[in-house]
Amino acid sequence: DLSFTEGRVDFQNVCFSYTAGKEILSEVSFTVMPGQTVALVGPSGSGKSTIVRLLFRFYDVQGGCILIDGQDISKVRQNSLRSYIGVVPQDTVLFNDNIRENIRYGRISASDQEVEEAAVAADIHHKILSLPDGYATEVGERGLKLSGGEKQRVAIARTILKSPRIILLDEATSALDSQTERNIQASLAKVCANHTTLVVAHRLSTIICSNQILVLQDGQIAERGRHEEL
Ligand code: ATP
Ligand code: MG
Repeated sequence: DLSFTEGRVDFQNVCFSYTAGKEILSEVSFTVMPGQTVALVGPSGSGKSTIVRLLFRFYDVQGGCILIDGQDISKVRQNSLRSYIGVVPQDTVLFNDNIRENIRYGRISASDQEVEEAAVAADIHHKILSLPDGYATEVGERGLKLSGGEKQRVAIARTILKSPRIILLDEATSALDSQTERNIQASLAKVCANHTTLVVAHRLSTIICSNQILVLQDGQIAERGRHEEL
């Protein structure tokens, strides 16, 4: 069915709208080379999260195509595609299960120790240990409430454990205190090392660390380059 190997991402003249007559992306083209980190920036509503959703095939493109390692993703089974890509969404929703299983979800064969190592790397381990039942604490509607930043770090731990070739990060827009921001930044840097990463960036610190920045505006890439160049 597929033979992804490197983790190269190509958007070729991608067009997309949610509703007829209102085009969100119009002929968007860019490449993320294997192992590189590309930051996507632009005004609220410009289509950044839409690009993430298209790459994960929540929707199919209406013009152009998206290639991974040269293969059109619309011809690849969704399960195969999704096993190859890890997503940390803008608003993480956790499952009605305990914290340990929420992290393990990315790789069900992982041991408890591997789960905890991923939580340490994502800087959420100490928070989990402070909870009444530690890793066995139930989350969800009736269970524990975590902040947006904490939930996102659980999702980062899950992604670290899954260790997919391609990582999509949609940074939370919520304001963070500077210590938490530094912690998340450090955990993201760990996730991104050696993986192809497309990150929707709301923080300057993320942007500075990327190999290339794409500025999305009015449905198109208005500018592209490194931080020093823009
Ligand atoms: P933000 O920085 O606020 O997260 P964004 O760049 O990620 O914004 P998107 O979520 O990609 O923006 O949305 C792009 C546009 O598409 C917006 O105008 C939004 O209202 C619209 N949109 C998003 N999801 C849907 C949907 N499911 N149905 C219809 N329109 C949608
Ligand atoms: Mg968004």
